[in-house]
Amino acid sequence: MNHRPRKRFGQNFLHDPGIIQRIVHAIDPQQDDNLVEIGPGRGAITTELLPLAHHMHVVELDRNLIEPLAHLCASLGELEIHNRDALKFDFNHLALPGHPLRVVGNLPYNISTPLLFHLLNQSGRILDMHFMLQKEVVDRMAAAPGGKVYGRLSVMLQARADVTPLFHIGSGAFNPPPKVDSAFVRLQPCDPPPYRIDDWDIFSKLVRQAFSQRRKTLRNSLGKILSTEAIEVTGIDPGARAEQLSVEDFANLANRVLSVNRLSHE
Ligand code: SAH
Repeated sequence: MNHRPRKRFGQNFLHDPGIIQRIVHAIDPQQDDNLVEIGPGRGAITTELLPLAHHMHVVELDRNLIEPLAHLCASLGELEIHNRDALKFDFNHLALPGHPLRVVGNLPYNISTPLLFHLLNQSGRILDMHFMLQKEVVDRMAAAPGGKVYGRLSVMLQARADVTPLFHIGSGAFNPPPKVDSAFVRLQPCDPPPYRIDDWDIFSKLVRQAFSQRRKTLRNSLGKILSTEAIEVTGIDPGARAEQLSVEDFANLANRVLSVNRLSHE
């Protein structure tokens, strides 16, 4: 394929056949699956998935890759190519009744976090997601309370999905090799979510606020949103710091904000 990798599009193409097989095995595509790959690039994963799924969608931003990809996959199955920006793409419309999406991708690392949020906002239509990401990002996604890497990303994702890190991949598996190590991760949106969250906006604001000053106690970092007494009512210590709280604690605090707001409007 006569195409030079472009930095602007975060292009690091997989070329290690052993790693590609491990990825395909982890996804385990079935014929009836409603598969969509983000950033198929030169088709390293696509050409393995398509013969198993028979039909799949791909969303690729670089128009120079579209024609070669169509050509490469022509005899492998039915490939629907969307030459679009995944960050703005409406994934919902690809999901059919009884056929929720299975999303996969070796993602451009510079857009991975906004893309995860964009996808989770459509999670009612997504069965699972498998992504290659920067290892450091996967560590943050899957982190448990108490550690340094536990933060906003951990809480926001785990409030809606099960996060399972699967394996690490060294940079030598890619061309050109990225500067950082990578990891492959599975996300399974939970329906219903694991904890009751009455208002997602409030939850999101509260989590952001709590971690924006993660060294501070909740009493100080959340002071503008929730009084010390209101925090105490939930059974959570106002002297604790954000990184000590479980996802359920954050859900309880956010629900508390909502009920305090309601009371003050009555
Ligand atoms: N899956 C391929 C390519 C990975 S590189 C492989 O594993 O070899 C990342 C790919 O994402 C590139 O093809 C790049 O062009 C594409 N990409 C970058 N930004 C994108 C965006 N916003 N929306 C869709 N695709 C994008």
